[in-house]
Amino acid sequence: MFKTAGVCFIRRAFSGLSLVCLAVILGACAHPPTTDSGEPESRVFENVASKSTAELYADLIAPAVFERSSSKVIDGYTVESGKLRMPDKSEGALVTVRSVDGSLTALINKPGQFGSLHVDSKGGSQFISEPETNTDFEDAVPNPNEQVATAPVDSAQAEHFVVDVLMGYSKAGVDRAGGDAHADALAKIELVNMMLRNSLVDNVSLRLVGIQVVEDNYPITSETLGGLRTIFAEGMAKFEPDVTYGNFAVDIVPGGVIGMGWMPGRSAIGASNRPSTFAHEIGHNAGSHHCNDNGVNNYRFGYFNGKSRSILCKGPNSIYYSTPAVLDQYGLPLGNAVTADTARVWRENAARLSSYAPPQSPPTAPGNFVKVRSSANTITFGWNASPKAVRYEIYRVNVASDPLPKKIGDSTALTFTATSISGEALYFVKAVSFIGLVSVPSNSVVARP
Ligand SMILES: [Zn+2]
Repeated sequence: MFKTAGVCFIRRAFSGLSLVCLAVILGACAHPPTTDSGEPESRVFENVASKSTAELYADLIAPAVFERSSSKVIDGYTVESGKLRMPDKSEGALVTVRSVDGSLTALINKPGQFGSLHVDSKGGSQFISEPETNTDFEDAVPNPNEQVATAPVDSAQAEHFVVDVLMGYSKAGVDRAGGDAHADALAKIELVNMMLRNSLVDNVSLRLVGIQVVEDNYPITSETLGGLRTIFAEGMAKFEPDVTYGNFAVDIVPGGVIGMGWMPGRSAIGASNRPSTFAHEIGHNAGSHHCNDNGVNNYRFGYFNGKSRSILCKGPNSIYYSTPAVLDQYGLPLGNAVTADTARVWRENAARLSSYAPPQSPPTAPGNFVKVRSSANTITFGWNASPKAVRYEIYRVNVASDPLPKKIGDSTALTFTATSISGEALYFVKAVSFIGLVSVPSNSVVARP
């Protein structure tokens, strides 16, 4: 089933920007390679929290119009995405992740402008460019232990599958991605969900179920890919993901490796400041190859129609997986039902991709909830960790006046101090998972300051 050509790599071919660099190296051109290195461009927004998201990215997308196709609140972040439409009808895409403190991570894919915008809560802003890259070399690692699914899916009756994704990072990888791993992870997940929508794949979507940041950085190699479950063992046990993606700091050089993924499979790795690489590698996890150069009778390939490319066929800034069901701006199909239909691969492999791990379940209740100490009007409580918890909610029940429990606080630690307390009341704690599933209550304690 697989062309087991061995482990190869994804590399940068010569994009337009790289040709500028090459010209500089050869002394043929005096222009400095200002944007190819990913050097951030900085500016500052005043009163950033009062600014609309659109005000923050307006300069970067002009003169394109944002055609928003999704907006939702996830983990406290507002996540939006859609296409960018240029006056000449050419298209790109925009993904925005806005936090309550006003900070913004935006993936901007406009013709001629490809990268990520990062605005922090103080208004400091930088744009990290993501130069176009091609994928001339095989970065998809054949996986002899797994089979790509090929059972036809009736999209009219299809069940919707959710693929739970753990985003793993090295510390250096977080810095390269702009500094906010949570926002970056949500942006990458939404990028793929938007591309699935663009490609008319409606029976599968990705969901972020956890983030783990590790101290060490790792190179993009088959050893790192093979060891991913060890590197992120803690996160895999805690968050029970179907798919794990490793985001690492990679010094990108022409011809260098920027990502690798099993094909098919449940894990991949890539340069953390390249969201398009995540979309590319997870397409390999789904079971699709690059370009069907020989036109073989196999639909599990990306596509180049002479004008437009899909993401797996040397189209890093494409916003599509190959599909014959969608036409590009030139009226040409973005796939071929016989030779290039990655959208079909996604539909057929949705059940496999979503079933590596059991469905997400609530954390167990925290054990050993106790009063630790008290003062004139405070009480400090402590409890034992619940393995899947990312935070805890503390409740108070004023038994005498109101039997309904009231939440009095959150804690990410294993203690909580209730303040401004008088009189006797009953207290307990609940554990909350990354996606917000809540445990049953712990044992309760009746206490007074
Ligand atoms: Zn690839």
